[in-house]
Amino acid sequence: MKILILNCGSSSIKYKLIEMIGEQTLSYGLMERIGMHDGLLYHHFQKDGELKEKKMVREIPDYNTGVKLIINTLIHSDYGVVSDTSEISAVGHRVVHGGEKFASSVLINSDVRQDIRDCIELAPLHNPHNLRGIKACEMLLSGIPQVAVFDTAFHQTMPKWAYIYGLPYLLYQKYDIRRYGFHGTSHRYVSERVSALIGQPIEELKIITCHLGNGCSIAAIEKGKSVDTSMGFTPLEGLVMGTRCGNIDPTVVFHLIGREGLSLGEVVTLLNKQSGLYGISGVSNDMREILQEIKENNSRASLALEIFCYQIRKYIASYAGVLNGADVIVFTAGIGENVPLVRQKCCEKLAFMGVNIDEEKNDAAIGKESIISRQSSKVKVFCIPTNEELIIARDTKKIVQSLKGE
Ligand code: ADP
Repeated sequence: MKILILNCGSSSIKYKLIEMIGEQTLSYGLMERIGMHDGLLYHHFQKDGELKEKKMVREIPDYNTGVKLIINTLIHSDYGVVSDTSEISAVGHRVVHGGEKFASSVLINSDVRQDIRDCIELAPLHNPHNLRGIKACEMLLSGIPQVAVFDTAFHQTMPKWAYIYGLPYLLYQKYDIRRYGFHGTSHRYVSERVSALIGQPIEELKIITCHLGNGCSIAAIEKGKSVDTSMGFTPLEGLVMGTRCGNIDPTVVFHLIGREGLSLGEVVTLLNKQSGLYGISGVSNDMREILQEIKENNSRASLALEIFCYQIRKYIASYAGVLNGADVIVFTAGIGENVPLVRQKCCEKLAFMGVNIDEEKNDAAIGKESIISRQSSKVKVFCIPTNEELIIARDTKKIVQSLKGE
């Protein structure tokens, strides 16, 4: 069974075609600059046992054209990996917001499409593009089942005291204002994976997962279920991120409007796009550049790194409080997988809860599954590359098989 995974963003589409027998990636790629005359497609494909790349520049005015180009590329005689679209058994879509409606993945039909549309208010920057990808597939791959896998779904198990804000309760009832959490598929993947790696059932484990990419979030996971996470109503809450500010006193917003004369929209942009590592350092949102600047004695870059790691450490310690201890901590995503210095700083002063990092193992763990704690460490600490597409593919397969009564 071959499953196509689509992740549709504001002007980009990421895709992966997975052969579920052996869970092998046949092809993956990134389309950028949708809506421009010089749209780009970076297509990677397996041919004759080798991974090859094909780059294309095309006019991609809209999502339909984009998805069509991806499908035509996948069935192309030279750089395709299937001979016909009938070889694609199903499509799995990453959908950012499922509100309170979706606690798990679901087969897409007109009711589900409407529910995703109803969540646009909660995720105006994401859900409309996810819907465009779904519509394009319905048109171009008609008759092939499509499944929605939500970023928020994994966190729907949070107890009420973790997701209700200290606001008038009426606002939750009227406008669904509450904490939702994001990066659910990633937190789910690495927690399931770490349980498999240590050979202990997830039902017996207390796990803290740290997804540190451009967006960053932490989750407290008990018996395989998310019981708290750092992102909230939107992905702005929680940790300091690449360009997002994370937690701040809400009064700062009114102060900015009054003192800087900013409009509400400008404040939203400032908090989402001009803050975080970028805003503090003044140089970049990219951790590689921050590390380079630190080498060149840029004190603001050093401060950005300190703040970034300090916030993570505070969350880890507080989630140990949520879980009444922790058995495992996992670092994942671009920074979590590749930056030993960040992992080491995040775990400093956590000896009180039984965290003891092995420096050598930590330094060697770059982009690969590894344990980075000492044998004697009460809490096992891991670096695990995330694989959100695999979770989407597995959920899609399960739903399609249940459709067929298999
Ligand atoms: P996204 O949230 O966009 O999926 P990623 O998970 O790719 O982001 O993470 C992007 C972040 O990871 C950037 O700050 C980038 O600098 C950092 N990163 C990625 N690879 C490396 C690396 N090899 N060394 C240091 N930092 C890295």
